[in-house]
Amino acid sequence: MNVLPRRYHRIKQVLEKRQPDLTVLTEDVHKPHNLSAIIRTCDAVGILEVHTINTTDEFPTFSQVAQGSDKWVFLHTHANTETAITHLKSKDFKIYAAHFTEKSFDYREIDYTQPTAILLGAEKWGVSEKAANLVDGHIIIPMLGMVQSLNVSVAAAVILFEAQRQRLAKKMYDTTRLDVQRYNQILFEWTYPEIAKRSQEKGESYPLLGENGEILGAN
Ligand code: SAM
Repeated sequence: MNVLPRRYHRIKQVLEKRQPDLTVLTEDVHKPHNLSAIIRTCDAVGILEVHTINTTDEFPTFSQVAQGSDKWVFLHTHANTETAITHLKSKDFKIYAAHFTEKSFDYREIDYTQPTAILLGAEKWGVSEKAANLVDGHIIIPMLGMVQSLNVSVAAAVILFEAQRQRLAKKMYDTTRLDVQRYNQILFEWTYPEIAKRSQEKGESYPLLGENGEILGAN
């Protein structure tokens, strides 16, 4: 059954705005509603992939708060802080921990148009000392009230929409940021997830798509 043209063009529109060089790394953020809210914000900002450090055996779960956004944002889990940070550094990301220290910058001082990863700490304990020492810098959202921190998903949203503002100003959402091969691969997977899964199992390449997303036949 072919996709409806309207849905296909909507998927294309969203994919064309995805920013492969902006990401989030969560460190033991374990409450499903917080992770879900973060993923939903990432979808809205145009983030393609999120990284999560998960030192427990449980795979992260999502709540209704995600509103299905977890289907449109890839989640990579890492077993520990070092491997996650090494992975992102090997992809040339600058990593900023949202973390209160004496050397923290105001989050608005950072240039988010460069390849950037935002590290967010656990609900109760915040960013670990290990992570704080491995990242490129620390950022804070100034707090002027009685309570000393924001909910982690709120902090993520504040920082990510500043990143979106900077990227919009630089017209980084105006042209596709993904290379053609990756773009076509994700486009097919988002349009026909079941067929994509079967093709992968058989080791076959995905069928070609027509102008309105109709399946044309073998590639
Ligand atoms: N007691 C923890 C601490 O001292 O870090 C509070 C953790 S806070 C609820 C969870 C995470 O949200 C923090 O690790 C940080 O990444 C982010 N966060 C919350 N408020 C923030 C703020 N004002 N500036 C920067 N990050 C913040």
